[in-house]
Amino acid sequence: AERYDKGLEKSRTTFGERLNHLLANFRHVDESFFDDLEETLIGADVGYEAAMQISDQLRDEVKLQNAKRPKDVQNVVVEKLIDLYDAAGTEENNELHFADKGPTVILFVGVNGVGKTTTIGKMAKMFKTQGKKVLLAAADTFRAGAIEQLNVWAKRDGVDIVMKPEKSDPSAVVFDAVKKAKAEDYDILFVDTAGRLQNKSNLMNELAKMKRVISREIPNAPHEVLLVLDSTTGQNALNQAKLFKETTDVTGIVLTKLDGTARGGIVLAIRNELHLPVKYVGLGEQVDDLRPFEPTEFVYGLFK
Ligand code: GDP
Repeated sequence: AERYDKGLEKSRTTFGERLNHLLANFRHVDESFFDDLEETLIGADVGYEAAMQISDQLRDEVKLQNAKRPKDVQNVVVEKLIDLYDAAGTEENNELHFADKGPTVILFVGVNGVGKTTTIGKMAKMFKTQGKKVLLAAADTFRAGAIEQLNVWAKRDGVDIVMKPEKSDPSAVVFDAVKKAKAEDYDILFVDTAGRLQNKSNLMNELAKMKRVISREIPNAPHEVLLVLDSTTGQNALNQAKLFKETTDVTGIVLTKLDGTARGGIVLAIRNELHLPVKYVGLGEQVDDLRPFEPTEFVYGLFK
C-alpha cells in the first residue's frame, strides 16, 4: 500500500485507527461492538447502507468462521470493504480506455473548485513521463483565470496547449484542439471544461456540443468522460455526481483532496451508490499527488 503512504494520513488516523482500536479491544461479538463498528464506518462516509451491510455480513461471517482474534475480525472487515467496492462495480475497472489508433480524448467535467485543472496538470505530467505526446485544451473559458491556470500547468509539465480568450465558445477551443491532435499525432488530448451546474440544460447542451465536435473528427471519442469530485464535500459530492450522470455519459470518477479528509470511505460509497469506477485519486496539490485507484491497496492503506 506504499502508493497511498502519503495522503491518507487523516483517514488512517481516524477511520483506520478507530477501527484498529475497536478490533484490538474486541472480546466477543456483542451488540456494542457492532454499534461502534457501524458508527465508525458511517463516520468515514462509507454510506449508511453500506455500513449496515458490512455490519450484517460481519455478524454472519464471525459466526461462520468462529473468528475470535481481533486480527481475524479485521481481515473480515477488510475483505468486506473490498467486496463492497467490487460488487458494486460494473465490468468497468479503474484502467483508462485508450484509442486503438490516433489520439485518445479525455474530457474532464465537474463543478468549479473540485480540482479539474489540477488533475489535468498532474495527469499530463504522468503521461508525458510515460513518453506520450500530450495536448491540453483550455475549454473552461468561463471561470476567470482557468485558462491561465491550465497554461501554467502546460508550461510546468512541458506539454502543448490550445487556448482562446476568456468567454470564447468552448466548442471552438475543442474544435481547434481536436484538429491539432489529429494533424500532429498527439497520443492524448485532455479537455478542461467549465462546471456550470446552476443551469443544467445549458451544461447538458454545452457538453453535448463538445462531444459532437470531438466525435466528428475522431470516431469513438471522447474515450473517457471523467467526473472530478471533491472528497471533502461528502454527500454533496454524491449529489453532484448524480446530476452529472443525468447530464452526460460519465465513464469514471477522479476523487480529489483525499488528503484533506478523514472520510476516505467515500471512495467506496461512490462506487456503491453510483456504479461508476473510481479511476484516480488526488492526494495533494503537487504534481505527483495523483494515483491510479486500486481498491485493495487503498483499503489496506487505511489500516496501515
Ligand atoms: P477546478 O475549478 O475544478 O479546475 O479546480 P482547481 O484545479 O482549480 O482546484 C481547486 C483547488 O483545489 C486548488 O487550490 C488546488 O490546488 C486544490 N486541489 C486540487 N486537487 C487537490 C488534492 O488532491 N488535494 C489537495 N489538498 N488540494 C487539491
